[in-house]
Amino acid sequence: IFKNVAKLPSDALFAIKGRLAVDPRTNKVDLGIGAYRDNTGKPWILPSVRKAEQIVQADPNYNHEYLNISGLESLRKNAARIIFGDSFDIANRVVNIQSLSGTGALHVGATLMESLKLNERDVYFSDPTWGNHLQIFAKCGFNSIKSYPYWDAASKKLNLDGFLNTIKEATSGSVFVLHPCAHNPTGLDPTEEQWKVILESIKEKQHVVLFDSAYQGFATGSLAKDAYSIRLAITDILKDVPVMVCQSFAKNVGMYGERVGCFHVVLPESGYNAEEGSAIQSQLEAITRSELSTPPAYGAKIVSAILSSDELYKAWSDDMVTMSSRIYEMRHKLVAKLTELKTPGNWDHITSQVGMFSYTGLSKEQVARMEKEHAVYLASSGRASIAGLNDGNVEHVGYAIDEVVRH
Ligand code: PMP
Repeated sequence: IFKNVAKLPSDALFAIKGRLAVDPRTNKVDLGIGAYRDNTGKPWILPSVRKAEQIVQADPNYNHEYLNISGLESLRKNAARIIFGDSFDIANRVVNIQSLSGTGALHVGATLMESLKLNERDVYFSDPTWGNHLQIFAKCGFNSIKSYPYWDAASKKLNLDGFLNTIKEATSGSVFVLHPCAHNPTGLDPTEEQWKVILESIKEKQHVVLFDSAYQGFATGSLAKDAYSIRLAITDILKDVPVMVCQSFAKNVGMYGERVGCFHVVLPESGYNAEEGSAIQSQLEAITRSELSTPPAYGAKIVSAILSSDELYKAWSDDMVTMSSRIYEMRHKLVAKLTELKTPGNWDHITSQVGMFSYTGLSKEQVARMEKEHAVYLASSGRASIAGLNDGNVEHVGYAIDEVVRH
């Protein structure tokens, strides 16, 4: 039965990681996968996480028992609080479940929509978007995967008109997946004014919204600012309809491999009762029971400890600023080098983009030369993970860009 199995292509980003691992050049630079690195190029365990680990493990009741099917209650409550805000009526308006990081949250959301036959509708993703979005939704029976214009390559700005036109022309009730902040791969976010217009147009056409929040805290260093679009939707523009939110703690807590996340359904301000909320909860639990049985406990305990203690929360906020400001500094150092080298073209977008990534505008061929000639690895789309830059390699990357642009 397993004789004629089709061989699928390997995941593009993990393939980069594989090539980089066997590259003997000592000056190699990893700007591929979006994972934070410190100024020596090493993964960074956040000091707030180290502290939380000590506290959690010192608890006499610490153990490795199963969590409930819905996950760790304190994590779910506090995760909702940081994304929806302290004043939001979480008790009455949020139904949620712990998930396997952001990917698992997307999968729960897509599976919930599959059970409700929402997968028969068109689903729209930004062009470009995180590649895995398309696979996750396709696996859940979304057969009509479409895109809304987002990045305008010529101006390196948001194609707002194209985005709004697509919202207007889409069949009413289509599903729109939105990146609330630190857009992957472009690092380009709508302004607050643009968000208002986008959400108003979505409301007009009664589209269904799913926010995929994988980088809260990474765009501006502020959790509240990075949740602006979500909070605007649930407290104002889309407060009369359900809104789905996927939340990852991979990047902002640096717990990539521990897979901590939540999937939330935010209920409308009125018109839904507790019974309807508990019916949705039962669907989320049924999905999780058949796939994970119960979600992973360790990372959830660490993140929950951070979110429930004022002292750890403060330390974590500082850690987020450390990460976002180092990335900010690297954007500026890279552009300074390109300016010094008089590299042809305008590179201002590298400093105006936010979050972990820069959509450099380098072509596929230039990216291939960066890897072959200079041992600088980035996605073929030209997306560079700025977190991979540091004082030891930023000049080399500047020279590499300069060289490939000139030849
Ligand atoms: N959504 C987006 C837009 C992402 O960039 C990522 C991570 N690359 C995820 C979701 C999911 O990440 P994770 O499963 O590691 O939380």
